Amino acid sequence: MAATVIDGKAFAATVRDKVKTHVTRLVADHGITPGLAVVLVGEDPASQVYVRSKGKMTVEVGMKSVEHKLDVNTSEADLLAVIDQLNNDPEIHGILCQLPLPKYLDEDLIINSISPAKDVDGFHISNVGLLGTGQKSMVPCTPLGCLMMLRDHHGSISGMDAVVVGRSNIVGKPMAQLLLNDSATVTIAHSRTKDLADVVRRADIVVAAVGRPEMIPGDWIKEGATVIDVGINRLDAPEKGEGKTKLVGDVHYESCAARAGAITPVPGGVGPMTIACLLANTVTACCRANGLEELEGLTA
Ligand code: NDP
Repeated sequence: MAATVIDGKAFAATVRDKVKTHVTRLVADHGITPGLAVVLVGEDPASQVYVRSKGKMTVEVGMKSVEHKLDVNTSEADLLAVIDQLNNDPEIHGILCQLPLPKYLDEDLIINSISPAKDVDGFHISNVGLLGTGQKSMVPCTPLGCLMMLRDHHGSISGMDAVVVGRSNIVGKPMAQLLLNDSATVTIAHSRTKDLADVVRRADIVVAAVGRPEMIPGDWIKEGATVIDVGINRLDAPEKGEGKTKLVGDVHYESCAARAGAITPVPGGVGPMTIACLLANTVTACCRANGLEELEGLTA
């Protein structure tokens, strides 16, 4: 039977609608407009696209969007001063420092200078610790989006065997933690894993976050498993015309879809959920900062 395609684009639109409704209520009932500040250092073209699209969607759901674009030679002290100012700005509820930062900046130091309550990326060491101990935290956006889609598709994932391929701090590790917090039995695989094919074949849920185009073939997928493809890889696509490119995930879509019970496409799967979850995290941070009730379903 053909796999169900989990439509991340449509799901993200419903999350953004929920956020928008909640923002409208916060403004009308409490006079509070959630605010998101994005800090970008340098001129990396992909980062500029992400920042633009985050700003646009922030405004679309009725929130305040602030962008700080800093010169590529900005000193660590100057960047820390900008973050400090945002930490103390009562109109800003979420702060995101676009990664990757230029190499001369200490990424850990910068991330950990963001107030944990405003850390809408969920990368601050306090939020990592809170998530790891099953406490209320800010949850990294990409894994949160994956979890929302899994909960929506399965209802409960309790007791399911989940394999996360990739152990980065921004995707693999928090994803594994979220699955564990939802009582899945979790294996984390990485570049040193022995017989990866065998490990993936045992999974009811496969989350691929590797960064290698179409690395996971269909014959690694257990019949009926759910496949969440986090990978975004740009490949040349001469078949579409000269100089054209296409996006592919970390799984080989056609062969995996032929065996899976459900699968996320690339593009249109995890990607749109990431920005939707950033907006959700900002509204959650705003509610927490003001002692107001959080909207159910927008966080882990
Ligand atoms: P990283 O490069 O930080 O991590 C990749 C992970 O994959 C590492 O843990 C690495 O293992 C593992 N790995 C690499 N090669 C292999 C292999 N041959 N077999 C098994 N494991 C392997 O990547 P990210 O986590 O940041 O991103 C992963 C993918 O997700 C990328 O394609 C990225 O573009 C995409 N992404 C998509 C987002 C979205 O919004 N949809 C958001 C963030 C990322 P080891 O640790 O041993 O080196």
